[in-house]
Amino acid sequence: KMNTNLGQHILKNPGVAQAIVDKAGLKQSDIVLEVGPGTGNLTVKILEQARRVVAVEMDPRMAAELTKRVQGRPEQKRLEVVLGDCIKTTLPYFDVCISNTPYQISSPLVFKLLALSPAPRTCILMFQREFALRLVARPGDALYCRLSVNAQMWAKCTHIMKVGKNNFKPPPQVESSVIKLEIKNPRPAVSYDEWDGLLRVVFVRKNKTIAAGFKSSAVMGMVERNYRTWCATVGVALEGEEGGDVEMGDGEVGGEEEVEEMEVDEDGMGDVRKVLVRKSRKGKGKVAELVKRKVEKVLAETELGEKRAGKCDEADFLKLLYGFNKEGIHFS
Ligand code: SAM
Repeated sequence: KMNTNLGQHILKNPGVAQAIVDKAGLKQSDIVLEVGPGTGNLTVKILEQARRVVAVEMDPRMAAELTKRVQGRPEQKRLEVVLGDCIKTTLPYFDVCISNTPYQISSPLVFKLLALSPAPRTCILMFQREFALRLVARPGDALYCRLSVNAQMWAKCTHIMKVGKNNFKPPPQVESSVIKLEIKNPRPAVSYDEWDGLLRVVFVRKNKTIAAGFKSSAVMGMVERNYRTWCATVGVALEGEEGGDVEMGDGEVGGEEEVEEMEVDEDGMGDVRKVLVRKSRKGKGKVAELVKRKVEKVLAETELGEKRAGKCDEADFLKLLYGFNKEGIHFS
């Protein structure tokens, strides 16, 4: 019996399975990682074209069925079945990844693959249609979101083919698409956490201006905390605070703090997160004012303050990040 909580929708159309494997452009010398092999419909076709397959499967019954499928055959020695959660497993070296991905792990799987060093040559991944279209969306598209900018920063993302739900058993609720990820090599010299941190801010509301995103006290609180940490790390004295009275956090002496809770809309990445913000009762402190001026300066100088994230491209976000970092403003 299928366990649909594990996204067990077996690809029953051999033509589609063959097309997926053919799109990977495998070489006879390749080691292939397959995520969630299930009963092995893709696995046996990969084994025809590659040197070795490492198949990570979480369901012991599926792993057993796959093992049985190659038992006593010549390809048995070239298949290693790893029982476990591919997100938690340390992955061995591989050249190419092929996955009919269990949709629950789409986002963590993409980011695990993008972070690998050395990077695989190609990844051919089946996703639910909307997730796939988000990966390839361009500025101005309705589905363009933080996921699009993040994925396209580290990889060339191409839509390979549509796969209708009736090619699976049991059919899932939604249509699917196959995507090719070609990870950039060399990797762009940008910190992943800084890049993603900036994108989190500007994509909270992608159709509002970038300047509006920086009006949020949650965002400015985070920016200020990071600025204080950065100043301490690089040994910059906090301007306006030297020799002053003992100040608490936001520049007030004693007094209570209000705590504001804000829900951050993690557009497209599937992880909604609550952010706690401390707000001073007696107005902003000097550091908060300084950070606010710095942010305004960068937004003015880059001329991106009035632009909407949904319309910005990678070059715009890079320009913003460099501008902020130059002022000591950090997002991680
Ligand atoms: N590759 C097979 C095919 O195309 O017919 C099965 C694909 S099915 C959509 C997804 C498979 O991934 C299932 O066998 C499921 O048990 C497995 N799976 C689910 N979550 C997993 C995880 N976190 N790590 C590894 N395998 C997982």
